[in-house]
Amino acid sequence: MTQDIQDPKPVSPVQPIQLGPDDSFQFRCRKGIACFNKCCQNIDIMLTPYDVLRLKRRFDLSAREWIDRATVDFHMDGHGMPGLKLATKPGTRECIYLTPEGCSVYEDRPSACRYYALGLLSMRKQDSPGEEDSYFVVKEEHCLGHQEPQVQTVREYRKVQGLQPYDEANREWRRIVLKKRSGGPAVGKPSQKSLELFFLASYDVDGFRAFVASPGFQELFELDPALLHEIATDDEACLAFAMRFLRQTLFGELTIPVRQDAAARRLARYQEKVEAIERAAAEKRVAEQDRMYDSLDD
Ligand code: SF4
Ligand code: SF4
Repeated sequence: MTQDIQDPKPVSPVQPIQLGPDDSFQFRCRKGIACFNKCCQNIDIMLTPYDVLRLKRRFDLSAREWIDRATVDFHMDGHGMPGLKLATKPGTRECIYLTPEGCSVYEDRPSACRYYALGLLSMRKQDSPGEEDSYFVVKEEHCLGHQEPQVQTVREYRKVQGLQPYDEANREWRRIVLKKRSGGPAVGKPSQKSLELFFLASYDVDGFRAFVASPGFQELFELDPALLHEIATDDEACLAFAMRFLRQTLFGELTIPVRQDAAARRLARYQEKVEAIERAAAEKRVAEQDRMYDSLDD
């Protein structure tokens, strides 16, 4: 299955007709169709945070464990924004979850699998307060579903495919990715730390939860105990908070109150550390100079 959910290109199988939620298209995928499983034998599936959350929960694994077993890394842009793709079986392009009977994780299949044979494009028009979603039909040669006599609106299709919780949970993340990309080269290369935080907040919900519970985080941010409890016990709430954290870290949008005294203390500690490193470097330079002048006596 090949699908570019962000950026359909004219040479792709994406049909150049933009659809809105109430526009109709002809398509049906069903068991028993001659092309059954063909799409899952050649995949290129980019994962969203909610995809990871659903699948790690299905296997009762931590997010990190599931990521290590079932994904491959890639860069979403030239600055190394980390992305994840669903892994394939060794030496093939076939999805690891494909069986002769079909998808073995059907109830928790990723968003891109649910959307197929539609592509989603999120765009922000000039002077528009938010981005708008539009849809495109993706017509690949091997897929016979386009010949099936079933017509439905995009809205109906999205409902049948169970996309609502996926779109709700991923909306903020898509916005952040779009904003980050549209910042362009003027914004400059993000620091390694900000890329690591992007990965943690986007995909590793359990790691992010532990990060929020850490003494350093609690010292720096002022969080309502009810919210802390939600983050500790509810994956979706933790993911929603992770998106707030990302906005604050990447774009300086302050929605999580910072304890000013703690921030000042941490800054002072950081400066002390930097000064200690500089002092050690200066002492090393002096020692090297001394050794050099000593060697003149030899
Ligand atoms: S997760 Fe399921 S639907 Fe998606 S590519 Fe794999 S087998 Fe196919
Ligand atoms: S109809 Fe299309 S989506 Fe369904 S199994 Fe065939 S190739 Fe895959």
